[in-house]
Amino acid sequence: MPRPILARINPNALESNLQLARRACSARLMAVIKANGYGHGLLRVAEALAGADGFALLDIADAITLREAGYRQTILLLEGFFSGQDLPLMAEYDLAGVIHSAQQIAMLDAYPGRATLDVWFKVNSGMNRLGFAPQQVAGAMDQLRRHRAVRDITLMTHFANADEARGIAGPLALFNDVASPYRVARSLGNSAALLRYPEAHGDWARPGIMLYGASPFPEVSAQQLGLKPVMTLGSRIIATQELRAGDEVGYGALFRAEHSMRIGIVACGYADGYPRHAPNGTPVLVDGQRTRTLGRVSMDMLYVDLGALPQAGVGSPVVLWGEGMPIEEVARAAGTVSYELMCALTARVPVGY
Ligand SMILES: *Cc1c(COP(=O)(O)O)cnc(C)c1O
Repeated sequence: MPRPILARINPNALESNLQLARRACSARLMAVIKANGYGHGLLRVAEALAGADGFALLDIADAITLREAGYRQTILLLEGFFSGQDLPLMAEYDLAGVIHSAQQIAMLDAYPGRATLDVWFKVNSGMNRLGFAPQQVAGAMDQLRRHRAVRDITLMTHFANADEARGIAGPLALFNDVASPYRVARSLGNSAALLRYPEAHGDWARPGIMLYGASPFPEVSAQQLGLKPVMTLGSRIIATQELRAGDEVGYGALFRAEHSMRIGIVACGYADGYPRHAPNGTPVLVDGQRTRTLGRVSMDMLYVDLGALPQAGVGSPVVLWGEGMPIEEVARAAGTVSYELMCALTARVPVGY
């Protein structure tokens, strides 16, 4: 028998979340599948999201894998190219690339080939991560519009606070202002902007997290939004212990029993991607019932409170997150976001579809 941990991926939920994005937004949908499809598996995710109008990711090798698997949609490299050597491959496989820096324009200038590329010109609207500052846009756009290596241009930006109370009004106005001279397609929003700001739908929306069934908003649950969880990380209890008052649990003795109680040991630890910093009390499902983690998560195991679950024992199923145990709740308890939990799933965890 293999170790009982398993990440189950529900492709129907991916399709259903894509349909929800379609109903919420009339723009074309660029499904963001970076980081191995947010940890769900590149090709499996692409298959379930084959109805998307495009795919966005980072690695040129992954993009080529998609083309070779037969996907004909727009494929966008979100950080563009890193060297002039990427350009012939991008042309050969018809991969679009974000252009966010003068250095990339210089690489295009030096490109000796004849093939042309589609580029997504990134405007820095205030996040200060990638993109041309507003005052650089006109000059750089001039260069690209008459560039022999450039075919089509899409204007894009990315908002720092689409999921927060601060919203996008300032950055949106700034983007619209610098974009106004150009009659080209526009792409502005992630999942949060797609769901909350119709004025930022543009021609292409770029949903990521919502497709995987998690809410982009701290204060709204995925269920309230109608999103279905795609990944369910499950395992089983492999041992139990009877504690007496004063007994301690795990490395660093972070939990100490106040009275006698029973605990379960679950085959899941930080080497599987469960966050080590999840504190005592992080919610978890055992035998379909909510309980809490205890003590410090170790590499291969963690502890759960069986005090209120007399029927649970060795072999009882455990859901760390997913169906019945919203990933956002686990993330919040652990001081992180669902994105990080999904992406942190490690290679040793078998994935079932
Ligand atoms: C990751 C990413 C997205 C998707 O964001 P979500 O919050 O997951 O919807 C969209 N655009 C860019 C540029 C990204 O890097």
